[in-house]
Amino acid sequence: MKKLQTGSFVFLIAAFLFQACSLVPLTGRRQLSLVSDSEMLSMSAGQYDQFKKENKMSSDSGETNEVKRVGRNIQNAVTTYFAGHKMSQELNGFAWEFNLVENKEANAWCMPGGKVMVYSGILPFTQNDTGLAVVMGHEIAHAVAKHSNERMSQALVAQLGGMGLGLALKQETQKTQQIWMTLFGVGVQLGAVLPYNRLQEAEADRLGLIFMAMAGYDPNAAIGFWQRMSQSGGAKPPEFLSTHPSDKNRIQKIRSYMPEAMKYYKK
Ligand SMILES: [Zn+2]
Repeated sequence: MKKLQTGSFVFLIAAFLFQACSLVPLTGRRQLSLVSDSEMLSMSAGQYDQFKKENKMSSDSGETNEVKRVGRNIQNAVTTYFAGHKMSQELNGFAWEFNLVENKEANAWCMPGGKVMVYSGILPFTQNDTGLAVVMGHEIAHAVAKHSNERMSQALVAQLGGMGLGLALKQETQKTQQIWMTLFGVGVQLGAVLPYNRLQEAEADRLGLIFMAMAGYDPNAAIGFWQRMSQSGGAKPPEFLSTHPSDKNRIQKIRSYMPEAMKYYKK
């Protein structure tokens, strides 16, 4: 009897997880989704504001303007791309923001809803607007492909036993916040960062190249950026690499996406 119960319990969980899987609208891949868009967006807005309060935003107006300028251009490209694919509703509730934090770490992230944070330490690697467009295009691609919903769902399964985000927030607020921050490599001192998986990285690379090309930036710059990133030796690899593991295959793959991306590139 006990065995039977366990069996049906496992079946129920499996059925639940299958139900909870949804398609990535941009790529048609199935992803685990225990978290609604509206929950992600409200959590995102709160955590982003808190980050801005607790950290020093850059006082360099030239660099700050660069981040906002490149961000807006990518935002416009994404809006056009989604409209062209009749998917504009996927961007409902987005409240885009682009900020530069004074921080030596080479890092950048985009929370759901288009909340982008660039760290001043990554600017030596990006070098100019086009290099910055590689990073911002990539991060924004993660956000619009809803990779955080997927990663949050996976983390909730692993750490809180498949609890939905709403319930997790009510019952385990601190732990849930910690999961959230580790997803983005924010406050990594709290624990291990959760890197994006290979599929998500490939999706973000491919879409990021398309978005930057549509925004008027030459996508070929991505190759140089990832080369500089992976050659940055030293005792501690850049923060960006801990959430975005890179290897030789990555640049190879990026090269293979180039013909598609170049179709969107108008000088
Ligand atoms: Zn990535």
